[in-house]
Amino acid sequence: MNDILPDVSGTWRHLETVVRDIVQSYGYEEIRLPLLEHTELFRRSIGEVTDIVEKEMYTFDDRNGESLTLRPEATASVVRAGITNGMLHNQRQKLWTSGPMFRYEKPQKGRYRQFYQFDVEALGFEGPDVDAELIIMCARMWQALGLSRLTLEINSLGTAESRARYRETLVAYFSGVKSQLDEDSIRRLDQNPLRILDSKNPEMQDIVAAAPVMIDFLDEESAEHFQALKALLDAAGVAYAVNPRLVRGLDYYSRTVFEWVTDALGSQGAVCSGGRYDGLVEKLGGRPTPAIGWAMGIERLVALYDACGGEAPPTDADVYVVAVGDNTLEAAFALAERLRDEATGVRVELNLGGGSFKSQLKRADKSNAEYALILGEQEIAEGRAGLKPLRSAAEQSSVAFEELPATLAGLLGKA
Ligand code: ATP
Ligand code: MG
Repeated sequence: MNDILPDVSGTWRHLETVVRDIVQSYGYEEIRLPLLEHTELFRRSIGEVTDIVEKEMYTFDDRNGESLTLRPEATASVVRAGITNGMLHNQRQKLWTSGPMFRYEKPQKGRYRQFYQFDVEALGFEGPDVDAELIIMCARMWQALGLSRLTLEINSLGTAESRARYRETLVAYFSGVKSQLDEDSIRRLDQNPLRILDSKNPEMQDIVAAAPVMIDFLDEESAEHFQALKALLDAAGVAYAVNPRLVRGLDYYSRTVFEWVTDALGSQGAVCSGGRYDGLVEKLGGRPTPAIGWAMGIERLVALYDACGGEAPPTDADVYVVAVGDNTLEAAFALAERLRDEATGVRVELNLGGGSFKSQLKRADKSNAEYALILGEQEIAEGRAGLKPLRSAAEQSSVAFEELPATLAGLLGKA
């Protein structure tokens, strides 16, 4: 679990702002959710026989003996909230949410125990139009952020019925190579054979690679759905690769699944993952409601942004107000507040804690401000301030208080 320090929080804020503004511009609305849910919610939605539920959840009993879990992901909570607040029946919802998620994983680069996600969920939409929109929206974000080295992988997991047929073939295949399966996979063979395909064990990769694939078992409607999605992506100019082995690590997915992956971050390459979960609302007690969503890992997005040479917008002050001499502080406060009122967009920092002229100017220089505004008893008496450029050899000038907002806005290009 990491502290996000000021030297990187500017990048975080920038990325979150761009992502949020784009999602809002497509008509998605924010929903804020609790970090804690009943453990049962995740067991039922994510699935008992998954890495998350078997080994990664932070679960504890509260004072009342109820089992609670720090959320490992947001989709289950969104669906729970949709049902308990009566938002789904005969309605459609386009929602986004963001915040920390918790998984007891082996920490490594790009994989943490508290990490941040930005989530988008569309409930009540059958697709494939919304499937395409969710993906195209991502492509717009990558473009807005100047991110390259991201590729899109898509697959279809069909319906529960077509998956049941596939499951039989899969069990037959894995049973034939049972002696080569690892412990987890042998256990999953009976309970949840599809999860074997999501194994992170390198020794299992060859066996997984040779397994039969779901896409050959799709029912007609799912095949049409997938075809239509591909056509919409083609028309929008969004490139993709069909990866028939993409199954995702949670049980609730059906039909469309996708992942935006990068080669720039080593083995933690999934930046944004999602899919359709048509059966989940009903499974959690609501009426049957088709739905789809994605989740983006913010740490990985930040790392990719850095790798692509992205920079945070500057947050340094533009102007640093220096006040020397007796009884100058009140006037300095008044001038700083006046500039904040009238010089829109100009960032003003006031010297705090006094100090000699020299030490205040040193702080002004360290603040990276473009200008120091210098106030002494004499200046205040005349209603003027010294305007000292800090980043050029230009001469200091003297400007009347009432002209300062416009002068500074002009000099700083914020007029
Ligand atoms: P992975 O295959 O890398 O374990 P996942 O399939 O478990 O990912 P999801 O549950 O789909 O991931 O979560 C969506 C996104 O959240 C991922 O694409 C990734 O960017 C991010 N993510 C998931 N787990 C972590 C983690 N432990 N630390 C940081 N980011 C994570
Ligand atoms: Mg995982």
